Amino acid sequence: MLETLTTWLQQNSKRLCDGTLTDAPNVLVDGREIDEFVRLIANTTQQALSDQLYAMQKWAVRQAGSDSMAANDWLLIIRILKQKTLLGLTKAFDPTAVLEDWSAVDRVFTYALIEVAKLTSSSENALMLEHMVSLRRQMEELDRSKSRFIQVAAHELKTPLTLLEGYANMIRTSVSEEDLLMQMYLAGLDGGTHRLREIVGDMIDLSMIESGVIKITRQPLYMDKVVNQVAQSFAKPFQDRRVGLDLEPFPSLPGPVYADPERLVQVFSKIISNGLKYTPDGGRVTIRAVRVRDEERSEFIDGYVDVQISDTGIGIAPENLERIFASFDMMGEVANHSSGKTKFKGGGPGLGLPIARGIVEAYGGRIWAESKGFDERKRPGSTFHIELPCQIKVSVNY
Ligand code: ADP
Repeated sequence: MLETLTTWLQQNSKRLCDGTLTDAPNVLVDGREIDEFVRLIANTTQQALSDQLYAMQKWAVRQAGSDSMAANDWLLIIRILKQKTLLGLTKAFDPTAVLEDWSAVDRVFTYALIEVAKLTSSSENALMLEHMVSLRRQMEELDRSKSRFIQVAAHELKTPLTLLEGYANMIRTSVSEEDLLMQMYLAGLDGGTHRLREIVGDMIDLSMIESGVIKITRQPLYMDKVVNQVAQSFAKPFQDRRVGLDLEPFPSLPGPVYADPERLVQVFSKIISNGLKYTPDGGRVTIRAVRVRDEERSEFIDGYVDVQISDTGIGIAPENLERIFASFDMMGEVANHSSGKTKFKGGGPGLGLPIARGIVEAYGGRIWAESKGFDERKRPGSTFHIELPCQIKVSVNY
């Protein structure tokens, strides 16, 4: 019977082809190609399985290998052809006899379908990949223009800021100490220009970090003393907000370590001030340090120190633990902005943590946050880890 089916297929290929094109008029495949395909099916139905598979693989690559549209069209054509073939055969011969041998024909159609489907998905994957690469390029370009914008804006702001500071100083020299009202206005002006200078400084730092030109100097210092000095500088705002600040004794470190005191102060200040900012009145911020990665010792590095700054504040949602270190990603409600550096939840420009990460990484350290989640009522708190290498010797390049 199989031979009869094969002969029928060869004799009816033109009819099957026309019927298929009537059902699928918009395909890009032409009648000649479909006719050839039906003949190929007819010729392979009686071959060994492996030969059938090979024949279909060869056919699929030749017909639709580099053209995802054609591969999609072939998926449709093969389905229609298969249906029409079975219908035609069952009309021409005894349906029970046809069905007994149909599996051989069906198998070749199925091989063809699988091979074409593979091609459509790989060409779709290739298209998707191309699309993703182009999106990535666009994002990199956006990032570059964002960095350029920050850089230009910071430099543009510096000039009027210097003017403001200069005029404020001139007014100060001509105002008597007894003129309390004017002194109060001047103090307000000073506070504003000081905050603006910090923001401009942050913008410049961020653009230096993003363009990879941040400068880190190294000089011998005692890490615990630097942390202590930063903690002391926050005594007043912590008192004002009635938030406790505890500094646990540091573990013994291998003498002084080489680091950049100014940059370290910048990082610790940012994390401690965030601890205060995101902890409601009556809460606590605790600073402790542990020695880690002891086994990583070399001529230059004697393990690492992990400075942990924990608070009893509102916490951070798991999905934001990484995002908060990306510039401008966590700017929050615009209405909360400029509401003060230490005020509870006072939103800032969102530059602090990206800068802290840039500095810490430029040192060869790591910074990350841990929190059980965000909850203003239960206050699960957050812990920021600042892990820095204990550098005991500098190479001649520094
Ligand atoms: P901002 O200027 O907004 O404070 P940061 O870069 O310092 O910018 O912080 C980014 C965001 O990370 C904050 O807006 C806040 O949502 C979150 N965040 C930082 N520190 C804490 C903390 N200790 N507790 C809870 N959330 C925090």
